Amino acid sequence: MKLTILGCGDAFGSGGRNNSGYLVEAGDRVFLLDCGPTTLLALKRAGYDPGRLDAVFLSHLHGDHAAGLPFFFTDYLHEHPRARPLHVGGPAGTEERVRGMFRWMFGERAEPRDPPPTEFHEFAPGRDATIAGIHASPFRVPHQTRDVSLGLSVSCGGRTLLFSGDSAWTEEFVARSRGADLFLCECCFYDRDSAVHMNYLTLRKNLPRLECKKILLTHLGEEMLARKADIDLPLAEDGMVVEI
Ligand SMILES: [Zn+2]
Ligand SMILES: [Zn+2]
Repeated sequence: MKLTILGCGDAFGSGGRNNSGYLVEAGDRVFLLDCGPTTLLALKRAGYDPGRLDAVFLSHLHGDHAAGLPFFFTDYLHEHPRARPLHVGGPAGTEERVRGMFRWMFGERAEPRDPPPTEFHEFAPGRDATIAGIHASPFRVPHQTRDVSLGLSVSCGGRTLLFSGDSAWTEEFVARSRGADLFLCECCFYDRDSAVHMNYLTLRKNLPRLECKKILLTHLGEEMLARKADIDLPLAEDGMVVEI
């Protein structure tokens, strides 16, 4: 499994980093975890053909994680038509939200054929699914109250990647880290108390309890970037490639 960090920034463009987007290649599968507004740009910058994507899995529907899909749709409709469907998995409401964003962003250009061939899949927390040959195990994380935010454990090609999505610390990470080859964990803050995002000191304290083989911190906010010298866990960088 190969992970390319297309965007490890937060919603505010902290440090000039791209929004959330992670390219995963495993076996003959190619898919994205999250798809922020900068993801198509970053994918092309990394030299990838967007037509290679089999699936896009969204952790939640905040704009910095999901609002890049309309750019892929318009690319598929007008520049690089695709015949096979793109599988899009996400929490409840994903299909309605993504179709609505596409219409809102591209108006009548989005109308004639609607999105290119797309198969939407709703992830229910606690219910595993295999989509386009990729095994996904979604679970709810503390980030939103009314809408559902998910953490995702994805397995493909004999490797397992655990992705926190956006989340404060939850005991669920202890159980989910078991058997994970890499834990890609959002860490927005260094020490700020937050009910909706991770802070480094909390994660550091719980690190001995996590049984993943490796950890990589992402979704880095200004506070984390300012405290780089005090952090002894690996930090993601846009363009970084990790062999898992
Ligand atoms: Zn976010
Ligand atoms: Zn969020």
